[in-house]
Amino acid sequence: MTVLVVGSVALDSVETPFGAAENVLGGSAVLFASAASLLTPVQLVGVIGSDYPVDKLQPLATRGVDLAGLEKVDGESFRWRARYRHDLNVAETLETRLGVFSHFRPKIPDQFKKAPFVFLGNIDPRLQMDVLRQVDSPKLVACDTMNFWIESRRADLVALLAKVHMITLNDAEARQLTEKANLVHAARWIMNQGPRYVIIKKGEHGAFMFTRESVFFAPAYPLEQIFDPTGAGDSFAGGFVGYLAKTGDLSDANMRRAVVYGSALGSFAVEKFSNERLMELTRAEVDKRVGEFRKLVAFDTEMPS
Ligand code: AMP
Repeated sequence: MTVLVVGSVALDSVETPFGAAENVLGGSAVLFASAASLLTPVQLVGVIGSDYPVDKLQPLATRGVDLAGLEKVDGESFRWRARYRHDLNVAETLETRLGVFSHFRPKIPDQFKKAPFVFLGNIDPRLQMDVLRQVDSPKLVACDTMNFWIESRRADLVALLAKVHMITLNDAEARQLTEKANLVHAARWIMNQGPRYVIIKKGEHGAFMFTRESVFFAPAYPLEQIFDPTGAGDSFAGGFVGYLAKTGDLSDANMRRAVVYGSALGSFAVEKFSNERLMELTRAEVDKRVGEFRKLVAFDTEMPS
């Protein structure tokens, strides 16, 4: 089944302890689509300015991302500049230039309106809500957010929670949104606003999936080298929602598998800058890494006699 993603289409400039990249492909929609398209067809809605290197998106189209919802308008594309110091879990935003994004009103093409899976990437929650008004009762709606929107549009974000089935956010964002230090309490607070599933990511320490009935935890893959953490969150979401869309199965057992696919895609994303690693990745490599996750957490409860 198809996933519709609406989110930022950006030019990122990123500095990490291992190097720097200027004006590379980024944005929540692009990074999500780069991961999810390995698993299932993706429909993308976003906006770019006249300065965007559209030809660099061609490999995504080749891989099954329908770009019919990508609007091109006069002006400057969304730009994000960030730096990571030695704690690679923390992105220090140096500059956010909304550009054409500041007047963006998502227009969902008619042929995208019936998408059974919808991912509302990290954008203004008022725009995320606007998307929900245009789609026909999807099977699953998931959303993401970040500190920028929690600070500037908190009430809109809380209103959005009543309309989504799932939210993915990191531990700092969960604490900031709920004003609760304890993540179990934070997840419960979020579920009380509406979502059935709350995924709280803890960077290199893995990710929790909370539902009313259970808690599931998947570790992060222990990589030797993390090159650029940008996109880990969106690729996690792409792997997770992409796997659910591919299988069409929302059982608890399948949701747990999906969390591991999310963790696997997130781990590949950070091996190179931008979406470079995701675009050269094969489905076989993804499945192999999912198998390695299984080994990572397998243990025997029997005491040796
Ligand atoms: P993550 O997957 O959480 O690392 O997200 C990284 C992406 O988020 C980058 O490619 C940025 O272009 C994008 N981004 C950063 N700030 C914002 C924002 N305020 N709104 C939408 N997208 C953003």
